[in-house]
Amino acid sequence: MRRSPATIQAHATMPDQALWGETVTPVYQTTAFSQRSAQDLADLFQGRLPGYNYSRIANPTCTNLEQNLAALDDGLGCIATASEMAAIAAVAIGLLRSGDHLIAANGIFGGTISLFVETLAWMGIRTELVDASDTQNVERTITPRTRMIFVETIGNPRLDVPDIPALAALARKAGIPLVVDNTVMTSALFKPKSLGADIVVYSASKFICGFGTAIGGAIIDTGLFDWSAGPFEQLHKSPERNGPYAFLAYMRNVVCRNLGSCLAPWNCFLINQGLQTLSMRMARHVENASYLAEYLAVHKAVKRVRYPGLPGDRFYERTRRLFGGKAGAILCIHLADRQKAFEFLDGLKLIKQAPNIGDSKTLAIHPAPTILWQFDKDQRIKMGVTDDMVRISVGLEPFEQICEDVEQALSRLAR
Ligand SMILES: *Cc1c(COP(=O)(O)O)cnc(C)c1O
Repeated sequence: MRRSPATIQAHATMPDQALWGETVTPVYQTTAFSQRSAQDLADLFQGRLPGYNYSRIANPTCTNLEQNLAALDDGLGCIATASEMAAIAAVAIGLLRSGDHLIAANGIFGGTISLFVETLAWMGIRTELVDASDTQNVERTITPRTRMIFVETIGNPRLDVPDIPALAALARKAGIPLVVDNTVMTSALFKPKSLGADIVVYSASKFICGFGTAIGGAIIDTGLFDWSAGPFEQLHKSPERNGPYAFLAYMRNVVCRNLGSCLAPWNCFLINQGLQTLSMRMARHVENASYLAEYLAVHKAVKRVRYPGLPGDRFYERTRRLFGGKAGAILCIHLADRQKAFEFLDGLKLIKQAPNIGDSKTLAIHPAPTILWQFDKDQRIKMGVTDDMVRISVGLEPFEQICEDVEQALSRLAR
């Protein structure tokens, strides 16, 4: 029987080859790997001998995590990176050249937008931000120099849901890859490959790790894009040697090696620990978030709740069609104004105010003056962020206790 995702997760830390019968892959806390002969080392470097030479390129603890993440997404392979920002930067730098163009959804993670419109612009790469939940906006924006389409499965923080199969068809027609950031959903709720995504990127710092203990990222090639026929000449050089692995080989042995974007073995170990319970945790995260959204939707002190899994939400039908109704665990609430939003946050006792998501603990933040403070108001509104808005990452506590805390903080607002 083929191993189910929950079984792959439960066995996440099992070593391929145990030296002493250990049941957890050790942390290979070593910078380099020595060989018996000069010839072996030369063969290793030139790919004629399997093995490891330097941990900036690969390390057995990291391979363990990479193989798990690739298997869970039905991918060809995976490269673990220092953070998701490192993963996205590496993909963009690997694929785009000065004069090239990329299209990204405008309601996505602020750091990604800043990377695209500021940092990549310094290198002559142009980014067009569009409301990608309407596929026509993307179609209209494609130029002969467009080299990738980038969306999040569910935008953080705008919580919009792009029509991934329609975008995949569009990308296919244009001969360019569709890159999907699946951080908010994880493979436990949705596999982007199943609807045509070519590359999947993750912040492992969030739900995958699950406990807020390590920053990490991942790049997965789903194997759907034909790199030998694409517009990426840098990948045409050795297709006969790497075949379908051309992208992964080029990313690991050239781009990530040169950028130094490797993930440390200890962080791979921590993330792999979290991975063991991913499906179980995601089920509970989603259940709690759905209950909380329903509870808040009818609360007098709350103007509006955004959660794509909530009946009546703009993306409810699409979420049902694409993800079977599972909509992650991030929700946004709009209160009377900024003052009330601050009072609500300061009144919370159990729920922590923190900028991350995907922790076992429920977390809340007012995004406008914190994670997105460097964007001007117009940009923030395009990102779906207003001054009356609070984002909540729903954790794993019993729902009654999350609800009790939210209720006592909201009830103070009336006074
Ligand atoms: C957190 C996050 C990122 C950045 O991840 P890091 O691991 O912190 O670099 C990118 N995209 C989304 C959707 C995120 O939530």
